[in-house]
Amino acid sequence: MSNIPDTTPPNELGPPVEFKSTAGEQPANQAAEIQCRQSMGIVPAKQIVYEAIVGRGDRILMDFTAQGVASQVEVDGVWQALPALDRQSGDMMLAVFKTLAHLNPQDRVNQQVGEFTAAFGKEVRKCHFTSAGTQTGERVIIKLISKKGKFDSLSDLGIRDPLVDVYKRISGRHEDDKNKQVTSGMVVIATPPSGGGLSTVWDYAMRATDRFMRDFVCFETPDMNETDIENILVDVVDPDKGKSLAASIEAADLRQIDVYLVPQLADKATLERLCYEVNTESKQVFVSVRATDGIDALLTLRGSGVAPDMLSQAVNGVLHMRLCRRLCENCKQPFQPNPQYVQQLGLPPSHVQVLYQQYQPVPDEEGVMPEPCPACLGRGFVGRIGIFELTEITEPLRQALMTESDPAKLRQLSVEQGNQSTLTEGMLLVAQGITSVQELQRAMGS
Ligand SMILES: [Zn+2]
Repeated sequence: MSNIPDTTPPNELGPPVEFKSTAGEQPANQAAEIQCRQSMGIVPAKQIVYEAIVGRGDRILMDFTAQGVASQVEVDGVWQALPALDRQSGDMMLAVFKTLAHLNPQDRVNQQVGEFTAAFGKEVRKCHFTSAGTQTGERVIIKLISKKGKFDSLSDLGIRDPLVDVYKRISGRHEDDKNKQVTSGMVVIATPPSGGGLSTVWDYAMRATDRFMRDFVCFETPDMNETDIENILVDVVDPDKGKSLAASIEAADLRQIDVYLVPQLADKATLERLCYEVNTESKQVFVSVRATDGIDALLTLRGSGVAPDMLSQAVNGVLHMRLCRRLCENCKQPFQPNPQYVQQLGLPPSHVQVLYQQYQPVPDEEGVMPEPCPACLGRGFVGRIGIFELTEITEPLRQALMTESDPAKLRQLSVEQGNQSTLTEGMLLVAQGITSVQELQRAMGS
């Protein structure tokens, strides 16, 4: 940077990202912004946030060690490396972020949490900042929150119509035949333990219910902010103030409530209470849990210590969602798989002549790599889609849930009863060219 005159204000260097300090009073925010604009740390700060926004990233992770700063950005659930920084530039950058968030730049040990905003053109992100000392230095995570959600419509999530029909039926909303409605029972909403998307699928699942016809109450703890849906009342329960979730649900019995929602099922007592509401009071109940698939969700609930017969009697189904990345429509590559391969994948060879894979760049005769695809920046994927699995509890499955603990046997029975496995549902996405076999395998492993 030796050709830049010393008089250029640091803020005029680097990409056109604008930071706003938002956590304090107006004068303090302004003072923080002015201080940051005058620091050379603003340049790498703008650079890293710029790369994250342009690359459609959701989170930035920075690891500070004696050697330097290693950074990554999470795009569609996959971490990707960003250019490394030397420690001195990294420290100045970190001081800028902490100043913007009204945190203490000198404290490199204690956990600090704060926020600020970053804007690049029309793209505005709320930046949720967390830092904490580690054995080798310090770790920083900046979560970039966009105002508009990742999924603009329900069909964007990828749930197939037949599954929507079953879901609506077990959640009390049958479009054609009111006699087929199931207006009591427990519905479980689940996502993988390490995967994202639980609040998205919960939101979807709640919007698909008949919340305008019946009275819904959602029980949340103060740290949650899951449910903000028209016609669903939210009851905030603070266990620190001596009132348990189970007791609050019991107290709610006095009101005329048809449907109980508990997006974060914490303990056996709450689950027992909810089973009672279903089995004795004929209420409907929605809960959410982290699990690898529908059967795992049921076994996880049973593992809380609730009586298996109580749970089996109450539960009507599990809607499980796992996210996988969508192939980039601009550069995905078709290939003709041989019929044996298609058969191995469990797909009908007569219907599947073409599959798609991620774009594989090939250098030209002079060894020059092609320009990366502008739609996906050379990643081969843009956005994500949900693989939905709906486990409807039929009578044989209900019986088995009381005694059987072997997940493999329960899964086999579930498929025999007509439920599709996550893998089968995922293969449908592969057959349609929405994702690749490799990506499905990656998503299944998470
Ligand atoms: Zn592309």
